[in-house]
Amino acid sequence: MTIFEKIAAREIPASIVHEEVDFIAFHDISAQAPVHVLIVPKRCIPRIALAAADDAALLGRMLLAAREIAAKLGVLESGYRLVINNGRDAGESVPHLHIHLLAGRPLGWPPG
Ligand code: 5GP
Repeated sequence: MTIFEKIAAREIPASIVHEEVDFIAFHDISAQAPVHVLIVPKRCIPRIALAAADDAALLGRMLLAAREIAAKLGVLESGYRLVINNGRDAGESVPHLHIHLLAGRPLGWPPG
């Protein structure tokens, strides 16, 4: 099991902010902004480049849930950034697809 599958199975603790039948969202353990949440499918898709056509609806619902999470955490109006790191050069460190939701401060662009 990946670390995120263990979080979804409640084998590892996490601060969960949103949950649906097939995905979960929780605060990142090493927050890079005042709000830093990971939105994660419960079933392991290793990275976005390995997602299949069958995953499209799930991925779309995860993107839409970001708006609900941003609203719940009070950053819908101030803004939020969604990031998916795919592969070594992008800084992917956990091989289980996740969308970062970052907010709560002005975020630089372009990213480092
Ligand atoms: P990546 O670098 O793969 O895009 O992002 C992985 C993220 O997972 C990092 O931001 C890292 O802090 C977070 N992370 C790694 N292990 C854990 C954990 O056990 N719990 C939580 N909540 N976040 C984790």
